[in-house]
Amino acid sequence: MSRPPKWRHVQFLPDTTYFKPVGVPLKELEEVVLAVEELEALRLKDIEGLEQEQCAEKMNISRPTFVRIINAARRKVAEALVKGYAIRIEGGNYQIAGTVRCGRCGHEWLQPETGSDLACPQCLNPGKGRGGHRRGWRNQGNRLG
Ligand SMILES: [Zn+2]
Repeated sequence: MSRPPKWRHVQFLPDTTYFKPVGVPLKELEEVVLAVEELEALRLKDIEGLEQEQCAEKMNISRPTFVRIINAARRKVAEALVKGYAIRIEGGNYQIAGTVRCGRCGHEWLQPETGSDLACPQCLNPGKGRGGHRRGWRNQGNRLG
């Protein structure tokens, strides 16, 4: 029995999903495929400047897993730049996560976009009816296939 895959939380989906070197004939063009969660790892660490531990927490993975993902991502991007490969961003093992804010105590946390609201981890407010939680998805309607 294999364990079901653990979904990595991702808060960002890129508008541009294909990068191609200028002047390379299509038949000679090679490409690397960057998974969506690999791009998210680069974004959190190298753009947002978060510590590995914070990045891992946001993505709902362990720190060693985060390190593995970002190392793979950096290698792919470096390889594309050095060797003149195209970069395609697609696929992976991820779930869009967004911020949920508790309607009672104001605590914020991340949870998958799909599925029902979880109880507030701080005050255990179930988020139903009066005092319901507020969702703030950053990337609605921009899902990759
Ligand atoms: Zn709460």
